[in-house]
Amino acid sequence: CGVFGIYGPGNDVASLTYYGLFALQHRGQESAGIAVTNGNHIKIHKNVGLVTEVFSEEDLKKLKGDIAIGHVQYSTTGITSALDAQPIVCSYLQGNIALAHNGSLTNAKELRNKLANNGSVFQSSTDSEVFVNLIAHYGQNPIEESLMKCMIDVKGSYSLVVMTENKLLGVRDPYGNRPLCIGKIGDGSYVLASESCALDTVDAEFVRDVDPGEIVVIDKNGINSMRILPKGKKALCIFEYIYFARPDSTIDGINVNYARYLMGCELAKESPIDVDVVVPVPDSGNASGIGYAETAKLHFSQGILKNRYVARTFIKPTQALREISVRLKLNPIKRILEGKRVAVVDDSIVRGTTSKKLVEILRKNGAKEVHLLISSPPVKFPCYYGIDTSERTELIAALKPLKEIEKYIGADSLHYLSQEGLYKAVGKSKGFCSACLDGNYPIPIPSGEGLGKNC
Ligand code: 5GP
Ligand code: SF4
Ligand code: MG
Repeated sequence: CGVFGIYGPGNDVASLTYYGLFALQHRGQESAGIAVTNGNHIKIHKNVGLVTEVFSEEDLKKLKGDIAIGHVQYSTTGITSALDAQPIVCSYLQGNIALAHNGSLTNAKELRNKLANNGSVFQSSTDSEVFVNLIAHYGQNPIEESLMKCMIDVKGSYSLVVMTENKLLGVRDPYGNRPLCIGKIGDGSYVLASESCALDTVDAEFVRDVDPGEIVVIDKNGINSMRILPKGKKALCIFEYIYFARPDSTIDGINVNYARYLMGCELAKESPIDVDVVVPVPDSGNASGIGYAETAKLHFSQGILKNRYVARTFIKPTQALREISVRLKLNPIKRILEGKRVAVVDDSIVRGTTSKKLVEILRKNGAKEVHLLISSPPVKFPCYYGIDTSERTELIAALKPLKEIEKYIGADSLHYLSQEGLYKAVGKSKGFCSACLDGNYPIPIPSGEGLGKNC
C-alpha cells in the first residue's frame, strides 16, 4: 500500500493528497481514499479502483480542510470491498481520528480477538482496523501516547499516517520495514509519504526519512518526535529496492534506480553471458538491464514494449487474470529480436508466470536463444509483512531447483543474482529484511492462527 499525509493550512490539501496518491499508485491499485479535516470534523471519500477512478473534481471540492491523509491499497487476499478501503475514520474519547496503514500485522488476529472480547466492534477484515480499535482502547491518553502503547502491543510491519482534528502523525514500525518520509512545503506545511516520488510531485522539499520506531507529530507548533526503543535491528524490506518502489524514489538514503542499476552490474560480474543483445523487461528490469549491459560490455536495446495502461501484473489477485495481463502488458519488437541471442533482464521471479509467458513470446518473435537474468535471488519463503508472496506452494523457487525452473520457464539458461551480490549493490550494513530470500524473519511471525488481511 501507499500512504500520504499533509498538514497544510491554507493549501488545497485534498488536491495535493490526490496528486501524492497518484504518484504512489504503483503501491496499490485496489482502492483509494482521502480523509480531510477542517478542525471540527473529518470528511472521507474512498472506494475500490484507481485514484483517477475513485475521485472526480467534484469529490475533491467537497473535501475542504487543513489536514488530509490518503491511501492506495494493495490487496493481498483477492476482492476488495469499499469497506476495506482506507483511510479508516472513527470517533473515540479524544475526538475524531483517521488512519491509513502500509504493512501487515503478524499478531492481528490475536489482538482482534482480545479487543472483540472487550467489546470492540469491527467493520472490515483489515489489520489496520485493529490499530484504530487499539487507539480507542487507550483513549484516556493523548493520541501520541496511545500510539506509543499500540506500538508495544502490535507486532508486524507498519508505516502509518494518522490524523486528528488538529494534528498529523506519522509512525514507522521499530524495524523500519516499510518506508515513510517527511517533506516540507513553504514555511508551515508538512507532508508525509511512503516514497519521496510523492514529495516531488507536490513540490515538497525532502526533509528526512521517519526513523524506525519513531512517531512524528505535526501541528501548529511544527514537527515534534517521539521514539520507542528499537526491538531489533533495522529491517527495511529489500524488495522495495528490487521491485516495489518507484525508481525515482530515494528510500533511507538509497536511490531505487541506482540500487537496481548496481544489482545489474553485480549480476553481470556473476553471470556474464555471450549474447547479441541485452533486453530489459520494462519497467522494473530497466535499470538492472542497463547495469548488466554496461558491465558486460554488451549491446542494450529496449526490445520489449510495455503498455502503460495495464496495471502491475503481480498485483492482480487471480492466476487467470495474471496470465492475460502478461500478454496485454508486454509486447516485443520483432526487428530487435529476430535471429538474435537475447539476454532478458527482469527483477524477480515469484510464481514464474511472467517469465514463462515472456520467453514464449520472445521465441515467437524470432529470438534464437533466450537467457533469463534475474537481478535478485530466488524467492523461496513467504512474506508475512505485507507483500503478496505468502503461499509457499505458489513460489516456484520453493518448489523446484534451478534447472527445473529453467526448464519450466523454457529459457536456454537462467541466472539469479546471489544474496551477496544483492547486498553489495545496496550495502548490507543499512539493515534489511530479506526473509523471503533466506528464511531469516527479523520480525516475529504469526504462530497458529496466521495472518489477517494485510495491506
Ligand atoms: P511472477 O510472474 O514470477 O509470479 O512474478 C514476477 C513478476 O512480477 C516480476 O516481473 C515482477 O516485476 C512482478 N512483480 C509485481 N509485483 C511484485 C511484487 O510485489 N513482488 C515481486 N517480487 N515481484 C512483483
Ligand atoms: Fe520484503 Fe521479503 Fe521481507 Fe517481505 S519477506 S518484507 S517481501 S524482504
Ligand atoms: Mg517485472
